[in-house]
Amino acid sequence: MNASASIGVTGLGVMGRNLARNFARNGYTVAVHNRSAGRTRALVDEFGHEGSFVPAETAEEFVAALARPRRLMIMVQAGAATDAVIDEFAPLLENGDMIIDGGNAHFADTRRREAALRERGLHFVGAGISGGEEGALNGPSIMPGGSAESYAVLGPMFESISAKVDGEPCATHIGTDGAGHFVKMVHNGIEYADMQLIAEAYDLLRQVAGYSPAEIADVFRTWNEGRLGSYLVEITAEVLAHTDPHTGGAFVDIVDDAAGQKGTGRWTVQTALDLASPVTAIAQATFARAASGQSDLRAAYRGLPGGTTPPLSRTEAARFTAQVEHALYASKVIAYDQGWKMILDAAAEYGWKIDLGSVARIWRGGCIIRASFLDRIRAAYATDPDLVSLLAEDGFAQEISDAQVPWREIVASAARRGIPVPAFSAALSHYDTLRADRLPAALLQGQRDYFGAHTYRRTDREGSFHTHWSQPDRPETTA
Ligand code: NAP
Repeated sequence: MNASASIGVTGLGVMGRNLARNFARNGYTVAVHNRSAGRTRALVDEFGHEGSFVPAETAEEFVAALARPRRLMIMVQAGAATDAVIDEFAPLLENGDMIIDGGNAHFADTRRREAALRERGLHFVGAGISGGEEGALNGPSIMPGGSAESYAVLGPMFESISAKVDGEPCATHIGTDGAGHFVKMVHNGIEYADMQLIAEAYDLLRQVAGYSPAEIADVFRTWNEGRLGSYLVEITAEVLAHTDPHTGGAFVDIVDDAAGQKGTGRWTVQTALDLASPVTAIAQATFARAASGQSDLRAAYRGLPGGTTPPLSRTEAARFTAQVEHALYASKVIAYDQGWKMILDAAAEYGWKIDLGSVARIWRGGCIIRASFLDRIRAAYATDPDLVSLLAEDGFAQEISDAQVPWREIVASAARRGIPVPAFSAALSHYDTLRADRLPAALLQGQRDYFGAHTYRRTDREGSFHTHWSQPDRPETTA
């Protein structure tokens, strides 16, 4: 077989098939392979006219079709399937060849695979890909990790098939080994928080302002024209405006209110615990999905006393809506800031050099959290690449300052009325925690020293100290 293909894609499911077509449409010759050959034939039969495909039935044929250094992209389920495919192809590759995993792998698996394949002289690129089926075909956001050497070869290809915003590609080299999959994981965690915040805003507008789903769709359409402008706000309006063809009622009212999850939000929270990175809005969003599915517990709690929801006049409802917009925006800034800080914490832990401005840039298009607001984050990092927090930037600081009264009013009024706002509350508490002069953590340290002699540091002297709690007269000792 003529080794003519610039890239090969194995795993021609929903994502792999569309990525292969995207490469071909952008002028690359693409070798295509699938465990069951039927999918390979179907792809070429149906879409062969879109570009240059080289179908391969066996692993050997597939590898033989690739130009050197070979670039072989795996698009199968994360976990055991990815390991099985790596084990099948790695022995057929040679020094300097590249395996790209475009699935949703856990970054720790990517680190393990990268180290093992590096030993064998192969480059392993864990590439986070966001945008789902449609993005894979027309331009996703691509977050590749791996060596700089591999990006020098693969970067132009990723950039050419990625989404473009203002002429800039939504693909960049994130960092070494698992950095790309890590950043994709945090992207999904932020996505959970963003979606939950939007859902809480909807719930407040429904229950407090008394608006119908169609009216709330109009509110979201208006918000989409402003600083909240984003794919998620846009599709929220579409979902709320949708009428169920069977009942003629609002679609949102016939959907079972138990949210699903595939696990990347959970990975974000689990990893955040390991890094001691307080992504509380993301965590609450993840737990809110879990709680929604706890049907037995919900049945046991249903009907227990809560707050009251006196109806609002139309004028009050309009004012309330404006307050919700502030609360949603401020909470969203905090949720993103938490995700950003988690990336910084991981970069310090794993020795990655991650340009957060570039991350904001490549999330402006192609991915699920694409939003006009990300352009502001990109600009903030362009001004100060060492920004510790988004709130250190004047524009965001001013907006958070302007949101103070409405943000607090919304969280307080939700509590009074018994409406759950876990993500709004978590974001506000996070903000108040970080801006506090003193935290009750001082008391925790006292408690820890009392029962476990865990020692504490003093504000007025260097060193670690222990108080002899059962001997009040004995002076504290230095640990
Ligand atoms: P999919 O439609 O379920 O397709 C899975 C593919 O993997 C099929 O081609 C299947 O081959 C192959 N496969 C499964 N186990 C295998 C094994 N042990 N050995 C060889 N091939 C195997 O999956 P998808 O939605 O395209 O997702 C692919 C990857 O992209 C996943 O990691 C997913 O998390 C990630 N991803 C998905 C999305 C999305 O929106 N769907 C977005 C971003 C990332 P057969 O045809 O022989 O069964």
